[in-house]
Amino acid sequence: MLDGGTKRFVWIQGLIAFGFLLVQLLCLCGCRQDSLSHSPEELRLTLQKEKSMIFNKLTSEEERVIVHKGTEPPFSGKYYMNKESGSYLCRRCDAPLFRSSDKFDSGTGWPSFDDAIEGAVQQIPDPDGRRTEIVCAHCGAHLGHVFFSEGITVKNLRHCVNSLSLNFIPEAYASTKLQKAIFAGGCFWGVEYHFSKVKGVLSVKSGYTGGMTDHPSYQQVCTGKTGHAEAVEIAFDPDKVSYETLAKLFFEIHDPTEINRQGPDIGTQYRSAVFYANEAQKRVIDKLIALLKTKGYHVVTSVEKAGTFWEAEAYHQEYYKKNGHQPYCHIYQKRF
Ligand SMILES: [Zn+2]
Repeated sequence: MLDGGTKRFVWIQGLIAFGFLLVQLLCLCGCRQDSLSHSPEELRLTLQKEKSMIFNKLTSEEERVIVHKGTEPPFSGKYYMNKESGSYLCRRCDAPLFRSSDKFDSGTGWPSFDDAIEGAVQQIPDPDGRRTEIVCAHCGAHLGHVFFSEGITVKNLRHCVNSLSLNFIPEAYASTKLQKAIFAGGCFWGVEYHFSKVKGVLSVKSGYTGGMTDHPSYQQVCTGKTGHAEAVEIAFDPDKVSYETLAKLFFEIHDPTEINRQGPDIGTQYRSAVFYANEAQKRVIDKLIALLKTKGYHVVTSVEKAGTFWEAEAYHQEYYKKNGHQPYCHIYQKRF
């Protein structure tokens, strides 16, 4: 017979064991949780890679605003009156921050937006104790301040941004100049994370491609029966980053020698694949695979012609940025 105290002790121990088991099970869902199977050296390389994020060169006036959190004089910036359709990017790191469709004339003399691209702008309390500062969530560049409940627009929000913190890409330019690249290298969360840090990459979407069914859901793709691979679709500016640079990074952030799996994620939906948009992209991939083979890598990456890219559910987009985790399942490893 167990007395009350011992029973309670056994019960609590059972609860702890159950909790531990639950955590283990969650970790077995592969990329869905951070795995601790990587060495300190691998983590160091990842951090080193992130530190090497290259920023645009700033003028002294831009530096005063972006780095030292200054403010440009009202009505002086080049975008407060801009009414063109397009996207506003971070002046320092090129991350897309605001859409022209959310811009409105606040009469303040600074570009004003009543919304930001999801996850792109971070709010932090201003040292003045009253206002809320906004910074680029990617590189920390100072953008301006956000004001609430002014009743100017339906969304009741005003991101008041310095033109000096922004770069504008007109829609017309984006549609003619930007190119697309599609890569599949296991769980799309980690692949998206790495490509979204590349200068010249304007957007990275997680989704599904290479399968038989239309509008596949995550659950359907997870069965492995739709033929789709978890993939990312990258929109990039070829004047700033080449397809070859992106393709090299692709081969360095996943293991191209694993067949139908990446680490703990197993199934054809996690296959290593490149979906090329044109013959020029295919030539680059064929060249890089041949090069890797001369280095002793038994590359199994499939090279498939790009078809429809089905965007994944909203909760899969920018997963690591939203959750503040690091993708331990996609560790950068230099191979070129
Ligand atoms: Zn930035």
